[in-house]
Formats: sequence, structure tokens, C-alpha cells
Amino acid sequence: MDNRLRTFGEGHTSFQKVKFKENEKRFKKLVSEGQSPKALFIGCSDSRVMPAMITGSKPGDLFIVRNIGNFVAPFNPNSDYHATASAIEYAVSILEVSDIIVCGHSHCGAIAALYKDMQPSPENIHTIKWLELGAEAKKIASIAHKNSEKEVMLKYTEQISVVYQLDNLLSYPAVKKRVENNTLFLHGWHYDLESGNIDYYDDEDFDFKPLSMQG
Ligand SMILES: [Zn+2]
Repeated sequence: MDNRLRTFGEGHTSFQKVKFKENEKRFKKLVSEGQSPKALFIGCSDSRVMPAMITGSKPGDLFIVRNIGNFVAPFNPNSDYHATASAIEYAVSILEVSDIIVCGHSHCGAIAALYKDMQPSPENIHTIKWLELGAEAKKIASIAHKNSEKEVMLKYTEQISVVYQLDNLLSYPAVKKRVENNTLFLHGWHYDLESGNIDYYDDEDFDFKPLSMQG
């Protein structure tokens, strides 16, 4: 066993014995029939956000792309490598998911970093560029919550950023077309690490409301 990752090795052994066995038929069916996930989940890379766990998803339910800050770069076809855009294209046009969830979260380091003065260096050059995708949210939050406590402003920035990323999704022609045809639905979520609650963005009331059925 790899001693450096001993706990992961032990966890994997337990997975093989229990969880894989429990889901074995499902895994095999997903291989023979292929995957047809219901939703594309765009979440933050943060280790405390567990997409499958917080949604009760099973193997094959969620097509997931995670990045720093759960940002969606606007459609911009050029010769760069676009990981998130590629996942969006594949989910929307090949897998034909019916829903896209952009899920932000509390205590997001990417959102907090928007308010820090980062000096460019070869060690953070990609991060500084990527964080530009939160600049609009920061601007709105800074105006709306000029006199609020920092915690309140950060939560608002996390939520407003999710709404901006939904707008950016619509810059993808395939997304726009399917949304207009009512075959694709966009959802903005905010997950609270401490309470475990998810709030969803209600675009009629311009507000975030509890997703929980018991809410
Ligand atoms: Zn985050």
C-alpha cells in the first residue's frame, strides 16, 4: 500500500467491499448503456463541497465540472484550452442534459480572494486572470453592501456571482438555443458549509430561497 496515501488506500478498500458492491449493477448498466446524466453541475473545487453528497446523487446522475470559484468564462472560441467550456459543450450538445446547476458556496476562498491585493507572479498568474470572472459580482456587492459586515458582503458576492455565471452560460449558443426552446433549464445555488443548506436563486423574486422540501 502507498503509505503516503494510506487513508485513501483504506477508504478504497472499504469502497470496493461495500459501496461498489451495493452499486455494482448500476455501474455495469452505466457502462453497457452509457451515461445519460440529468444535470451538469458546475461547482467550486473547494474540498468541503461534495456535489453527490449534498444532492443525494447516485452514479450517473451528475456530470460535474469544478473550478476555482465555480466560474463560467463567457463563450470565447479561440486557440486557448477551455476546460469548463468544453464540459459545457459536451454536457449540453452530446449528453443533452436537461438542467445546469451553478453552485456557489459559503466561505469561498475564490470570492474572498477578489478582495485581496494579489501581486502577479509565475505562481498565481492563472489564478489572477481567472478571478476576473468574479469582478462584476464584487463591484455590485461593494456598492450594495458598502457598510455591511465583511461576512455579509462575502455571502452576497458569492450569490451575485452565481447569477453572473448563469448569464455567462447564456453566451454559449447551444445553451441559449436550448434554454429558448425550453429543453434546458438553468439553476443558481448557494451552499452553506456550516448548516448544510442549499438556497436556490428565484429569478422572479431576484432572491435566494431554501431548496429543501422541508424548508
Ligand atoms: Zn469556493
